[in-house]
Amino acid sequence: MYDIAVLGELLIDFTPVGLSPNGNPIFERNPGGGPANMACAAAKLGAHTAFLGKVGDDPFGRALKETLEKNGVDAGRLLLSREHPTTLAFVHLDEKGDRSFSFYRRGGADTMLSPGEIDPAVLDECRYFFCSSVMMAEGPSRETSFFLLEEAKRRGRTVVFDPNLRPNLWASAEEMKEQVLRALPYAGILKVSEEEAFFLTGTKNVEAAADALLSRYAPALLCITLGAEGSFACTRKYRLRHPAFPVRAADTTAAGDSFTGGLLAAILETGKEVPELSEEELSRALRAANAVGALTASRKGSISALPAREEVAELLAQK
Ligand code: ADP
Repeated sequence: MYDIAVLGELLIDFTPVGLSPNGNPIFERNPGGGPANMACAAAKLGAHTAFLGKVGDDPFGRALKETLEKNGVDAGRLLLSREHPTTLAFVHLDEKGDRSFSFYRRGGADTMLSPGEIDPAVLDECRYFFCSSVMMAEGPSRETSFFLLEEAKRRGRTVVFDPNLRPNLWASAEEMKEQVLRALPYAGILKVSEEEAFFLTGTKNVEAAADALLSRYAPALLCITLGAEGSFACTRKYRLRHPAFPVRAADTTAAGDSFTGGLLAAILETGKEVPELSEEELSRALRAANAVGALTASRKGSISALPAREEVAELLAQK
């Protein structure tokens, strides 16, 4: 039995690490992909996590599989393709540590996962099914995402959805919005960044965006992450906000993904479903998620930046 089955892209993030003696940028080969970051974050915090996806049967793909395993994620269902190469992304950081991406993804293995390649029975073996919109951007992976969302619903599994909007992976912003709006009704737990909440609702205020998302899609739990301002959570009973832990941001890549991993691990530890959580338990889970996000933002890289359980406990004990 798994706590979380994670569907998503697993790829190489080439992150800048300075200049060569010739003055050219040097990129480091880092494992990445939002859902993979989330899976590793949750697994490092003790959640039993399985990854569903596809990489190329090439040195990049094999290294990625090894990374999942080293972080405690079950990679037994990760497919290695002889036909399609591992997807690559180059990360660009601005002076504040905020990131942008260039993707090399057309025909990339993560877009080429067909519905017939994943046995939906895995959904009977998990408590949460996590997915994001990046797998919906192109190729058969879109159909697979909706197939598994439908199967998760049919089997009564809680869907955790993080839109993780990456407009430059889509043919158009309209198509991205259309597919994300199609996915939102499946979400039992919905995590969005502030910018995503504004994009999806057309409002410019967190409370109003939360009201719109809750009334339109009715997730049991909605979390809106606010970067260095912390995060916001709503259920049908409670509405909470926690400030961020003060850290010096080195690279915010994976902060949001690790936030979700931290949130799910903390909810799982209560042994309760979201509607049964007390305000205190929800508050503790949100604070723990902020701690995981802050530690991740304080270091360079994505999966390599994820904190261990002890580090999170130490930060949570500080105040
Ligand atoms: P995303 O990566 O999805 O854009 P955010 O940037 O909102 O997500 O970050 C997710 C969470 O990580 C935030 O809610 C916060 O708890 C933590 N975090 C992000 N940036 C910082 C920061 N500069 N300082 C402290 N915590 C941060």
